[in-house]
Amino acid sequence: MTKPEHYRVEGLRKLMKAEGVTALLVTKRENVRYLTGFTGSAGSVLVASGRPWLITDFRYKLQAARETSGVSVHIQKKDFPAALREAAQRAGVENLWFDETHVTIDGIRKLRKQGLRPREYRDLVGELRQRKDARELRHIREAVRRAEDSFRELKKYIRPGARERDLAFMLEFLMRERGARKAAFDTIIASGRNGAMPHASTTDRRIRQGDLVTFDFGAEADGYFSDITRTYCVGRPSPRQREIHALVQAAQEAAIKSVRSGMACKALDAVARDIIRDAGHGEHFGHGTGHGIGLMVHEGPSLSPLSRDRVAEDMVFTVEPGVYVPGWGGVRIEDMVLVTNRGVKTLTSLPRELEGLKNL
Ligand code: ZN
Ligand code: ZN
Repeated sequence: MTKPEHYRVEGLRKLMKAEGVTALLVTKRENVRYLTGFTGSAGSVLVASGRPWLITDFRYKLQAARETSGVSVHIQKKDFPAALREAAQRAGVENLWFDETHVTIDGIRKLRKQGLRPREYRDLVGELRQRKDARELRHIREAVRRAEDSFRELKKYIRPGARERDLAFMLEFLMRERGARKAAFDTIIASGRNGAMPHASTTDRRIRQGDLVTFDFGAEADGYFSDITRTYCVGRPSPRQREIHALVQAAQEAAIKSVRSGMACKALDAVARDIIRDAGHGEHFGHGTGHGIGLMVHEGPSLSPLSRDRVAEDMVFTVEPGVYVPGWGGVRIEDMVLVTNRGVKTLTSLPRELEGLKNL
């Protein structure tokens, strides 16, 4: 049976050929995993003609053999640059294209010292990773399930008097209990005025009756991540809370409905942004509308006014507009969507409405 990694390497070779790249050094951990299945923390791949080379060190000798197939594993004896030169010589490579978003200036110097000719280039593997294959989608759906089931379980602890920090700890515990190796990122639970900070860290603040509380969290499954945000009112919402929440919900819904393969990501961002701006809250929405997600919580494509990406089938990204009012609080709603040939499928399912806590 052919493993997905083999198709991925084939896909990369096609892209390399089209771009005139004859030998590619892949250094980003997630890219290495994507192409080879190797999950160790130290390893790089050289893709030229013939089998790809996975270069790693003694600590990962057994693991590399167990996790990979179809690649030549090269255990470095001295250091990485020397091992890379050896692999490059055997592959007949002199020019070596590398990921300009990842290799350091020091790393480039070391390659030159080995007589290699490094050439900076875009993150080609990252571009391939934007479109998910069937196995990746399975893991992503599982990461969503772990996060959402945990949140439903957390519900009984969400009440006036509960501390943000304790709820975050409990949620992470519940996700771990469901098999996640870790939380996707530091869980955000921001209540009352704290909600005005889009990436608030959790505090010792206790939730009060009538607070808006923003929960931004995600789980891991086989290296893949989920990322979900809900803003709920604990108690009866005020007219202003209702108004701002309804605005964010409308902006998010319109953006999700407009997703089409082929559209510019900045146009998708504008759908949500224009609705929020027209309601007079333009300056209260200062981040992008969404981001790709997979082996990294934030990856391509980017949904922002400056994005040059285009929506394509099989992409998975978040749609997460927000309104943040200093001194008052904030609302953000974030879902994960999969682009299909007919439009879009939403992967996340927790209730979105302001009083959704009741319906969990
Ligand atoms: Zn998030
Ligand atoms: Zn996000």
